[in-house]
Amino acid sequence: MKRIAVLTSGGDAPGMNAAIRAVVRKAISEGIEVYGINHGYAGMVAGDIFPLTAGSVSDLVGRGGTFLYSARFPEFAQLEGQLAGIEQLKKHGIEGVVVIGGDGSYHGAMRLTEHGFPAVGLPGTIDNDIVGTDYTIGFDTAVSTVVDAIDKIRDTSSSHHRTFIVEVMGRNAGDIALWSAIAAGADDVCIPEREFKFENVVNNIKKGYEKGKNHHIIVLAEGVMSGQEFAMKLKAAGDDSDLRVAVLGHIQRGGSPTVRDRVIASRMGARAVELLRDGIGGVAVGIQKEVLVESPILGKAEDNALFSLGADGEIIVNNPHKADLELYLLNRDMNNLNLY
Ligand code: ADP
Repeated sequence: MKRIAVLTSGGDAPGMNAAIRAVVRKAISEGIEVYGINHGYAGMVAGDIFPLTAGSVSDLVGRGGTFLYSARFPEFAQLEGQLAGIEQLKKHGIEGVVVIGGDGSYHGAMRLTEHGFPAVGLPGTIDNDIVGTDYTIGFDTAVSTVVDAIDKIRDTSSSHHRTFIVEVMGRNAGDIALWSAIAAGADDVCIPEREFKFENVVNNIKKGYEKGKNHHIIVLAEGVMSGQEFAMKLKAAGDDSDLRVAVLGHIQRGGSPTVRDRVIASRMGARAVELLRDGIGGVAVGIQKEVLVESPILGKAEDNALFSLGADGEIIVNNPHKADLELYLLNRDMNNLNLY
């Protein structure tokens, strides 16, 4: 392959820039030209495509967001959109593409591969919800941001004997909530993967204050429901504590990537170039047990599920590589953190 392109798509994540940088520098070292595509698939179709040099990616490794911009472009799910994108790739002499994004972006990459343009996916999302990898680029930074926020909320919460519901991102995956609850020493955590009863949360809050605790922190993944709705339902179920809601929102997406995100992004970026160099597309790069791996870009969603519960409540492990299973069990065993 003589010329490849790189784009970022879907929700942005800290570390995307580090991945782009690695793609550019590695490609150049392999004698491959690299083009950048602005605004994801929207920019591909619009022909917003331009050459990148080693210098274009200077000072980027530690910068949050994505300097290639990201976008949502539903038209790319249609054949017409894909063909328009391919037309532009051909026009620019591009033979392969690195797509940094989430599950939706991976679908676009698969379609490109099927149309004869090998595309390699890199998992760029804070949610950690991508098949075939233990960690996604941006997850570590997002969790660090959440933990920092909860530490601060805990200070004010203790001063006033308050109960805080901290709503964090994660529409389908509870990873951010689970990890931050452990790291910030929260009292309860509610994630989309699990059913829970408000009465249990109410009782737990009561028990905590009776034991002499001076605050109570509940980490809530947004996929369960909004913090406001949760607060209303908690009150309706009998909670009489001084209840507040903190919605962390988009601060979770921003900021300078952590060392871990920078390093995995750099490693994955370099691997993507090696794969395209060898003519391989239709795969996604991941990291499992600290080793880089490739897997089919559209793996089965159930392969990524942390665990599921059998009819008798027994834990069925779906993905033994998922560190979250271990966290789930840790949660269960610790009597001061309840997972619902
Ligand atoms: P993420 O990649 O973070 O999951 P989205 O689901 O919004 O974010 O997907 C990002 C972009 O990927 C979409 O805006 C669209 O351009 C492209 N995309 C999503 N689904 C498909 C699909 N089924 N086929 C082709 N392209 C898709």
